[in-house]
Amino acid sequence: MTAEEFAELCVPPTCTLREALLALNRTARGVLLVLHPDGRLRRTLTDGDLRRAALAQVKDSAPVADLPERPPITIGTDATFAAGMALLDRHQIDHLPVVDASGRPVDVMLRRELSQRIWLSSPHLGEEETAFVEDAFRSNWIAPLGPHVDGFEREVAAYAGVGHAAAVSSGTAAIHLALLLLGVKPGDSVFCSSLTFVGSCNPILYCGAQPVFIDSEPETWNMSPAALERALAWSQREGRLPRCVIVVNLYGQSADMDALLPVCERYGVPVLEDAAESLGALYKGRASGSFGSIAVYSFNGNKIITTSGGGILMANDGELVQHARKLATQAREPAAHYEHVEVGFNYRMSNVLAGIGRGQLRVLEQRVAQRRQVFDNYRDALAGQPLDWMPEPAGYRSTRWLTCFTLRGPDAGRRRDLVLRALERHSIEARPVWKPMHQQPLFRGAPYFAHGDQDLSARLFEAGICLPSGSNLTGEQQERVIEQLRRALALAEGWRALA
Ligand SMILES: *Cc1c(COP(=O)(O)O)cnc(C)c1O
Repeated sequence: MTAEEFAELCVPPTCTLREALLALNRTARGVLLVLHPDGRLRRTLTDGDLRRAALAQVKDSAPVADLPERPPITIGTDATFAAGMALLDRHQIDHLPVVDASGRPVDVMLRRELSQRIWLSSPHLGEEETAFVEDAFRSNWIAPLGPHVDGFEREVAAYAGVGHAAAVSSGTAAIHLALLLLGVKPGDSVFCSSLTFVGSCNPILYCGAQPVFIDSEPETWNMSPAALERALAWSQREGRLPRCVIVVNLYGQSADMDALLPVCERYGVPVLEDAAESLGALYKGRASGSFGSIAVYSFNGNKIITTSGGGILMANDGELVQHARKLATQAREPAAHYEHVEVGFNYRMSNVLAGIGRGQLRVLEQRVAQRRQVFDNYRDALAGQPLDWMPEPAGYRSTRWLTCFTLRGPDAGRRRDLVLRALERHSIEARPVWKPMHQQPLFRGAPYFAHGDQDLSARLFEAGICLPSGSNLTGEQQERVIEQLRRALALAEGWRALA
């Protein structure tokens, strides 16, 4: 609904029943909002109200004000779609006016929209997954391990151009194993991008190590080489270089590896590449996930392809990957009886889920093209709006796993929240950009190195929004996001003009 369309729903109490009927037909939303002269909501008016009035033989020249009083059921501007849905169900109605603190309507929640939620990033199956899963059932390989696990590992490694891969139960598990394989011990320090999902750095805590967070740079939103350089110089002066650096590739885009890797090399510190969000992306022609000493992908349900839950660890060092498999299977020594020397985990991927992954891998290139198309559609439709899209520098191919942008200008944090809430009212799942780890209570006190004078990851969080980006979004759903986003941006600009 555009601002003009919303304005057409609003009528004065002097409006006649006949005029109301014409307005209901013209606007086709099934509801009108009758306003007091001061703009507060007096009541709603539906087809049902007009039908009842006709049966009671109220003349169609009578004003709406003559109808029996009925206090409207409304909801506040910070309502979630679930709260809206619950209220619609409780009162068995289909429209819910959204009113601001002064009782003025600013929007309407519609059952039709609420019941068709648009998700940020939902699973999108291809045609072959079921065949692989059926094969797993038919052959009774319902175990962790099995031919699909082996096949999936081979296929992912070949896709990335990396020597070996070990499929595990999650991306987080893969990062945990990678840290152990890189020798991270209690008391060690590990560097990590600050702007990321907590799955990147929770495993640092599993190892009893201490995280040091590194800011982003504006070109890629990924790790700043300048901040990394300063952090490494500092840690060398302190006499405790990190055991490794976790470089995260955010939202489908690689970090600037040609700038980051030589810095790490100079200090002799290995890179763990968290490519959980960047499967399918390219950096200077090479697969994202082929740059770290160890790299991981995630196949969680919201990632570009999924096994419903899973991850994979990759490295060119075959012995290291074999060790990862062992650690992931309770660290069983090769003996008929169960012999154990080191601590192990139950982290292996099941053969059934690997089957889903093999099917998904076959449609990966399509999924990349579809997500990039979603981004292009948003960018074209929203040209001229006061926002900046996440950049994609020359030499990079982002998958646009999520379409992200930042709001321009001051007070961006407040406007970001207004925009997110306005989208939520129409059952559109959008999210802030990741809250940086150095701002999380969990990591209070951890050292942080900013890009320059500005704390860039903090600014990206404050001003950034991720839009629904699934490869299975229909054109109609994208239209709905665009229309509501235009309206939400206008609302937020209006707030800024008042503030
Ligand atoms: C999803 C994700 C992870 C963790 O992957 P899971 O499979 O959900 O455990 C790690 N890092 C980043 C950047 C992610 O987006």
